[in-house]
Amino acid sequence: MSTSNDRTRKSEGLDALLARIAACRACAHALPHEPRPVVQAGQSARILVIGQAPGSKVHASGRAWDDDSGDRLRDWTGLCAEDFYDPERVAHMPSGFCYPGKGEGGDLPPRPECAPLWHDALRAELPQVRLTLLVGLHAQKRYLPRGFAPTMTQAVARWHEAPPGFLPLPHPAWRSRLWMGRNPWFAGELLPDLRGRIRAALDQKV
Ligand code: SF4
Repeated sequence: MSTSNDRTRKSEGLDALLARIAACRACAHALPHEPRPVVQAGQSARILVIGQAPGSKVHASGRAWDDDSGDRLRDWTGLCAEDFYDPERVAHMPSGFCYPGKGEGGDLPPRPECAPLWHDALRAELPQVRLTLLVGLHAQKRYLPRGFAPTMTQAVARWHEAPPGFLPLPHPAWRSRLWMGRNPWFAGELLPDLRGRIRAALDQKV
């Protein structure tokens, strides 16, 4: 689990919370392995990425978005790896912190216990966040207003209408290339807006 670096004094609250998360076993009975929560957070983080759940590769490395999807997400955001993995700039808080294992159709969804247990407490320890990326359906369901859009595509297409400080994105799985081909506004309009918002969030004075 990544924590704050030395550039900024860390919050005792955040440190204690990250320690509790690291020790969490709330849904260990339902996981196919020992819990390994994958979270990155520093108290100065300006951007919060809320994804789905770690895949097997991320579970093995313990580093958020350490896979092809992460490469694609970084490309969308325009962030270099150094910034993306700097907890004082970017926080990573999946909808479920531990790899949930595989089902018939691929990886299982995030464990439902996780976000209600940890999300509010972790967000409360990230007071500098200016932009929250809702990556995929699970994050959008939790953080967009009820009835905002019936599908992920419609939610992303209405990104301008999302609550201030939130921006919905598709999950950057390999299938997203096909999805982008069917939705050219994503690369043509949303991604330039996303990159501008990220630069603004990182450059904003406290
Ligand atoms: S998925 Fe979340 S609730 Fe379950 S053991 Fe991991 S950290 Fe705890």
